[in-house]
Amino acid sequence: HDIAELKRLDVAHHLPAQSSYKLQRDIGGSRIIVHAEGSTIFDGDGNAILDGMAGLWCVDVGYGRAELAEVAREQMLELPFYNTFFRTATPPPIELAAKLAGLLGGDLQHIFFNSSGSESNDTVFRLVRTYWGIKGEPERKVFISRRNAYHGSTVAGASLGGMSYMHVQGDLPIPGVEHVMQPYVFGDGFDEDPADFCARAVQDIEDRILAVGPEKVAAFIGEPVQGAGGVIIPPDGYWKGVEAVCRKYGILLVSDEVICGFGRLGEWFGFQHFGITPDIVSMAKGLSSGYMPISATAVSSDIVETLRSVDDDFVHGYTYSGHPVAAAVALRNIEIIEREKLVDRVRDDIGPYFAKALAKLSDHPLVGEARSLGFIGAIEIVARKGTNRRFGGKEGLAGPIVRDACIGRGLMVRAVRDSLVMCPPYVMTHEEIDRMVSIIAAALDETSETLRA
Ligand code: PLP
Repeated sequence: HDIAELKRLDVAHHLPAQSSYKLQRDIGGSRIIVHAEGSTIFDGDGNAILDGMAGLWCVDVGYGRAELAEVAREQMLELPFYNTFFRTATPPPIELAAKLAGLLGGDLQHIFFNSSGSESNDTVFRLVRTYWGIKGEPERKVFISRRNAYHGSTVAGASLGGMSYMHVQGDLPIPGVEHVMQPYVFGDGFDEDPADFCARAVQDIEDRILAVGPEKVAAFIGEPVQGAGGVIIPPDGYWKGVEAVCRKYGILLVSDEVICGFGRLGEWFGFQHFGITPDIVSMAKGLSSGYMPISATAVSSDIVETLRSVDDDFVHGYTYSGHPVAAAVALRNIEIIEREKLVDRVRDDIGPYFAKALAKLSDHPLVGEARSLGFIGAIEIVARKGTNRRFGGKEGLAGPIVRDACIGRGLMVRAVRDSLVMCPPYVMTHEEIDRMVSIIAAALDETSETLRA
């Protein structure tokens, strides 16, 4: 590749996602990633970078899986596309739906396919309101979500999400979305007894339901562990409490498993780790390990039976709903996760190993907390050990400063305000986990003067 020419064309013609166009121009074009293998990505300037983010919380089985390319090739040659609009379907999405139903278990036996997590949550938005309409409760329109939640970038996805920067753009949220507190122990419950904080976070949901009027609330949506919001691991009892509140008022519970699904927390799905039973599940990313754009919306039998009780039920979907190539790749990806016992590996091997490695980072003078669950984690950067105080004048900037130092030392991580988040591929070795943690420690040392200045 002519990397200089690609960077020039990048600025001239190619607009990036979730990244400033001005910044792209000011830095002279994006870093061009040209190859990857296992847990390592390679850029066009010859740098090998350990991928602490599994692409974008998605390449769970790691890079370089030839069998996923082969299955895509075979399916493309056999049948690259056919739709599900004409009372038609193709084999792979049917088989994938049955497979997912088995993994989800219980009542979650019906699967609708889309191409992205955002689209899945758009499907949820319309489906839930349609469901309540058919149930004879059309006034149940309101969704309850949490601050700093990320549910996508479409109009419904960004509205359901609780990121204020996403709301400024496009004048969102659309009406009918309420945001309550997130269960962010380190940020909002630092000096509080964890059980009291948990009760307060659950109570905030109930209070909002009562303020809106329970008869108007359609659903609660949440990520089992908030990802883009900063890897927010809820305190013990939180999800059971949320589930109980939803049941008390007959509100649907939606689990956004776009990041947590497919083993990230050491179970196939995050809701299984927390022992709750959602009515609807959104999944994407790890469904195909990012090898193909595909997402799925799992729906309970009760909801589908209600929809099927009328003739004009739910007419919704996309050209690429149930795309045969994407579905074939997803099926094979799940087969790899099963064959290599990667969910067990997260729960019993790399998850605990990662937690121990992170514990060493907790001793660093700039680290206020290092937390993880399964193979997802975060560190909080603080100005003074033993507190959750941030560097004055630089609030929100410590993460990006340390992140850039990490990238310079060969590790891709993401900054979320004053924290760094990690979500590596499940194939990462112990040696690579150690390297990831020592690069972060070195990056903290390197930037400590800048942060204190
Ligand atoms: N939901 C969650 C929890 C996510 O983390 C994301 C993306 O990061 C989305 C939804 C949106 O998915 P997509 O970017 O595929 O539209």
